[in-house]
Amino acid sequence: MTKIKNISKLNKWFDGLSEPLIIAGPCSAESEEQVLTTAKEIAALGKVHVFRSGIWKPRTRPGNFEGIGEEGLQWLQLVKQETGLLTAVEVANKEHFDLAVKYDIDILWIGARTTSNPFSVQDLADYMKSYDKPVLVKNPINPDVQLWIGALERFNKAGINKLAAVHRGFYPFEATSLRNIPKWEVPIELKSLCHTLPVICDPSHISGNTEYIPEIAQKALDLNMNGLMIETHYNPSVALSDMNQQLTPKQLGILLNNLVYRQSTTKDADFTNILEILRNQIDSIDQQMIELLAQRMNVVEEIGKYKSKNKVTILQLKRWEKIVNTRIKLGKSLGLTDDFVKKLLQLVHKESIQRQTEVMNKINSTKKKTE
Ligand code: PEP
Ligand code: MN
Repeated sequence: MTKIKNISKLNKWFDGLSEPLIIAGPCSAESEEQVLTTAKEIAALGKVHVFRSGIWKPRTRPGNFEGIGEEGLQWLQLVKQETGLLTAVEVANKEHFDLAVKYDIDILWIGARTTSNPFSVQDLADYMKSYDKPVLVKNPINPDVQLWIGALERFNKAGINKLAAVHRGFYPFEATSLRNIPKWEVPIELKSLCHTLPVICDPSHISGNTEYIPEIAQKALDLNMNGLMIETHYNPSVALSDMNQQLTPKQLGILLNNLVYRQSTTKDADFTNILEILRNQIDSIDQQMIELLAQRMNVVEEIGKYKSKNKVTILQLKRWEKIVNTRIKLGKSLGLTDDFVKKLLQLVHKESIQRQTEVMNKINSTKKKTE
C-alpha cells in the first residue's frame, strides 16, 4: 500500500465538477486567437470542465516550438473570464508555478518527463505546498509504477490533497501503432495500491494520432477511470506541436457523445447475483491455475536435479521451441491469441530457469562443502 492519504474527491475540487472529469484544449497555446476560438468552441459543447494548454513545452530536440511562455497565461485568463472554464497548465519548475499562480491558473499538471525526476518533483512539492491548487501527475515515461507513486507521495506528503494521476502511456520499446503503450496493468496497479486516488486517462498522448483516441478513451472509462484529458485544437493541421493527435472541438463533441458512460456499480440485485456466480467461477479457475503452476514448478525442480546429475545445461532450445509451438497451436484451437500464449509461456519459462538455476547452485555448493 502507499502512504497517499486524505485524497480529496475530484468533484470537491471546484463547484460544478463531476466525474468523469473532462479536460480538453490544445497541446500548446500558440496565439490569442487559437486559444480563445478553441476554448469557446469547447465550452459550447457543454461537456468539458477544464481547458488545458501547454505554455512551456518539453521538446526532445532543441529548435522545435518550446511554448509561448508568460504571454499565453494572459490568454488563459481570458478563457476563464469569457467561457467560465477552469484552466490547467503544465509546470516543470518553481518559475512556471509562480507565473501560473500570478495568472490564476486553477490546476497544474506535472509532465511525464518531470515525474521521472524525483529532484524536480520534490522541489515542486515543497514549493507548491502552501497553495491549495490541484495537481495532476502524469505517469513517468517508463512503466515504473513505483516512480509514479513516489511522485504522488511527494506531493501528498507536502500536504497536497487535491491530487490525481494522469495515465498517458509509456515509451514503446516494441514496434506499435500507438505513440505510447497504455500498459493498462500499470494504472490498474496504481489504483489498487491507492483506491481513493483519481486516475485520468490522456488518450491523445497514448494514441499519437486521432484514429485510436475513441477506442482508448472508451477503454479508460470501461476501466472506471475518473476522467479524460484530450488534446483539442480549432485547426490541428496548423498546430505547432502534436498536430496529428489533436481533435477539433467538433470531433471532440462527437467523441464525448458517442462514449458509453458506465456506472462502476449498480444496486440491481439480478446483476449482482449473476456477477457473484461468475466471479466464483473465476476464483475457482484462478485457484486451480495457481495450484497447477506450483505443481509444474515442482516437476521443473525434479528435472533440474536430473539435469545436474547428468551434467546437461538448463536451457534446452529444441525442447523450448517445441513447447512454444505446441502450446500456441493448442491455445489457438481454444480461442487464445498467439501473443498471449507466448507471453505466458515466456513468463513460466523464465521462472523455470530460475528454479533450476537455484537447484543446481544448491547441489554445487553442497558438493563443494563435502569435498
Ligand atoms: C502534454 O500534455 O502536452 C505533454 C507534453 O504531455 P506528456 O508530459 O504526457 O508528454
Ligand atoms: Mn501534447
